[in-house]
Amino acid sequence: MGSVLHFRRNKGHLNDEEQKLFAALEAVRNDVDPIERVRRDPVQFAHRFRDPHDQELVGLLAASLAFGNVTTILAKVESILAILGPSPTTACDNRGPIQKALAHIRHRVFRGDDMARLLFGARSLQRSSGTLGRAFVKHLDEGGTLREGLARWASDIRARGGLPSIETRSAVGDLRGGKHILPNVQAGGASKRLLLYLRWMIRPADGIDLGLWAVSPSRLVLPLDTHLHKIARNLGLTDRADASWRTAEKITERLLRFDPDDPIKYDFALCHLGMLQRCPSRRDPKRCEGCPLMPYCKHWRPSRKRSLAPGKVGVPL
Ligand code: SF4
Repeated sequence: MGSVLHFRRNKGHLNDEEQKLFAALEAVRNDVDPIERVRRDPVQFAHRFRDPHDQELVGLLAASLAFGNVTTILAKVESILAILGPSPTTACDNRGPIQKALAHIRHRVFRGDDMARLLFGARSLQRSSGTLGRAFVKHLDEGGTLREGLARWASDIRARGGLPSIETRSAVGDLRGGKHILPNVQAGGASKRLLLYLRWMIRPADGIDLGLWAVSPSRLVLPLDTHLHKIARNLGLTDRADASWRTAEKITERLLRFDPDDPIKYDFALCHLGMLQRCPSRRDPKRCEGCPLMPYCKHWRPSRKRSLAPGKVGVPL
């Protein structure tokens, strides 16, 4: 066992290209100032509370609204927390008052009523299981896979909160926000917001993620969005053209080669690099200037034909 760990820590199983990509990912990760970047990330709201019940409930709200312009998201979550007060869990114990208090709120397709149902449903599950994390572990054990466990856990919250079920036709007017506030992980989309929430709750506490839930980070799947998908393609982590659940799984499989215990530890840094760099996904000297991934990016390499298939030795960078 010791020699396996030694082997993995020394990355002796990586080919030359993977070794260089590993160095690039580490450099990007080490370059991020977590304190500074957390201030620009919705995970900050979970850190604001001491009680883990508040942290997981507020985290779910923030992750569920993490859709669109980050400044707008931060302002919206801030305004909802001002309504919920110092103890969001207590505020969400009763459906009526929370529905009334949030009735005037809107964020993209989500109405205050959708948010109230989400919070009430999650709080109900939290109360009956002790924590949302314990409920997740139970559903994960029953479901077997992360995807199935997550689908069951989300359905439980939907049912308790009175949100429309995933079978509801999405085009039905006011039901649209209620249906999408918790993505349907079985539908094929990347379900980025739910996977982001899992990252916050499950990855070890490192100033960014909180490490609240007793689930191995090795089971996590990358929360993939269009920015991260572009960067992953540029790095040769995937050739797939769709930002789907399957693509997220495939990229995660590649990342497992760099750290089998914590494959998505690069997510925060890469995501913020995507936000800062506004990756054009083409050879653009002005916009690419200063991007730490430039030596590894397919748009700046001598040959643009390869992806980094595990175990294959690539053309030197
Ligand atoms: S070098 Fe340019 S195209 Fe490549 S990842 Fe960086 S910003 Fe994107």
